[in-house]
Amino acid sequence: MARFESKIFGIDLGTTNTLVSYYDEIAKRGECCASKEGGNLTPSAVYFENTDSYIVGRDAKDTAILYPDRTALYFKRLMGETKEAIDIGGTVYSPQQLSAFVLKKVVGDANEELEENIKDVVITVPAYFTSAAKQATKEAGIIAGLNVRDIIDEPCAALYHIDSIQDLSGKRVMIFDLGGGTLDLIAAEIKDNEIDEIAIGGDTRLGGKDWDSMLQKSIRDRYLDGRTLRPDDEQDFENDVERAKISLTGKKESWFILRNDAEKIRVKVTRSEFESCTKPLLDRVRKTVQMFMDDLTERGITGFDKVIMVGGASRMPQISELLRRMFPDTELLQKDCDEAVAKGAAVYAKRIAQKAKRFSVRQSFTPKKLNRISARSYGIAALLGDYGEKKICNMIFKSADLPASVSKKFYTSIDNQKKVNISVYETTATERYAELDDRMLLGNCELHIEGELPRRSEIVVDFNLRQDGTLTVEGREPRGKTSVRAVMESRALLSANELIEQKDTVNKLIMKE
Ligand code: AMP
Repeated sequence: MARFESKIFGIDLGTTNTLVSYYDEIAKRGECCASKEGGNLTPSAVYFENTDSYIVGRDAKDTAILYPDRTALYFKRLMGETKEAIDIGGTVYSPQQLSAFVLKKVVGDANEELEENIKDVVITVPAYFTSAAKQATKEAGIIAGLNVRDIIDEPCAALYHIDSIQDLSGKRVMIFDLGGGTLDLIAAEIKDNEIDEIAIGGDTRLGGKDWDSMLQKSIRDRYLDGRTLRPDDEQDFENDVERAKISLTGKKESWFILRNDAEKIRVKVTRSEFESCTKPLLDRVRKTVQMFMDDLTERGITGFDKVIMVGGASRMPQISELLRRMFPDTELLQKDCDEAVAKGAAVYAKRIAQKAKRFSVRQSFTPKKLNRISARSYGIAALLGDYGEKKICNMIFKSADLPASVSKKFYTSIDNQKKVNISVYETTATERYAELDDRMLLGNCELHIEGELPRRSEIVVDFNLRQDGTLTVEGREPRGKTSVRAVMESRALLSANELIEQKDTVNKLIMKE
């Protein structure tokens, strides 16, 4: 039997590390491809040697402090927020392009290992990512020359993996996923053949990286007395602090040497010091989980059969202690923290391959169907009454079943109006009318009217939130007298032309080993 038959591969495109996976027909589970970096993880870091070549992975990560202007890290946090992540010699790279460099590297390594030519992939994204961030992830795949067959929430992918090694049918679970950059929560009910998402929550700006930063600050305050380190000493310091943090998961204290030019300081960190200086972060985790539970309680759901912990940073003892306190009667399960998301993406990819029936995939195991919900609410800015307050009028609500389609009527305000401007907002509000907040603006949609319509003509705006959580907005004139075109422009997403240009730029650069 061939080791893999599903020609759709999984990719966990993480804030800190990226992995490629495939469904192993013999082991009957997802497996990760080896990275040339050693192990399976490739750091999601890009270093531009000059304007013509780049390096991805460990070496890129290790040069970050020496060449901060030429190294891009943690750009996943910029996905969906901006088109401009780093300027290299006058060329501005988007977070989508930086992600594409990483995708090209990991797919190249996987192709060599598997002797494949990977094209079709499923990419995982934080469940709590915005619609724009999800769309930007698809754009990264396109720039990398991949055919993104679907994107799936990271905790759901992890659930597919855990369910493939230990049947969870009949259980209600919470997946707690604390990675390098994000905290993601999903509640799901697992049936014999289906997985129903029932709630999504999290914090897209809370992850292991924040524990590193707080520990760094505490050590600087204690040992450096306001002095700054030389760049290469700073690089070593940041790496040593992360290593110390990781070792404090298994040990009560850790040591390393802090070098500052000729000076060498022996630094000791204890687990209790680490826990006390990072307490504000643990409080944020507690509040996020509490809000998530409050929402569920309002809907009559008060507990789980299992809480499944994934993501490298969930290994910190403070996290399992917190969850044990919050869910005293629930079994905590921690398995394959670093690889569960990637492995589960491969299981889900197998489902897509089977559904498409394009490949000769064996029918011995059919991964469960995923019934998804929306992580956010979507609406438009509207005046309440002729002279009323301007508010967000939500059209699709958080936790709505996906795909979701909603239409709303608007009226032209003058004869022969040529344009209607609509601002689209994405919030976590659950009520029909929410306060306007420009930080929540997803994009502006312009309805272009071709033809002549009298004042107060009806125009219908359709919102369509796809299975993968990306939103499309369309406009139409219901009586069909004229055509109306709506284009949503987001400050962070690429137009068709920009996609082509950015792909060309990425392809022109040489990837160095
Ligand atoms: P992920 O995004 O799931 O790969 O998680 C990466 C994050 O997990 C980084 O911040 C790592 O420093 C952190 N991490 C990995 N292993 C451990 C560990 N044993 N203890 C604490 N943090 C860890």
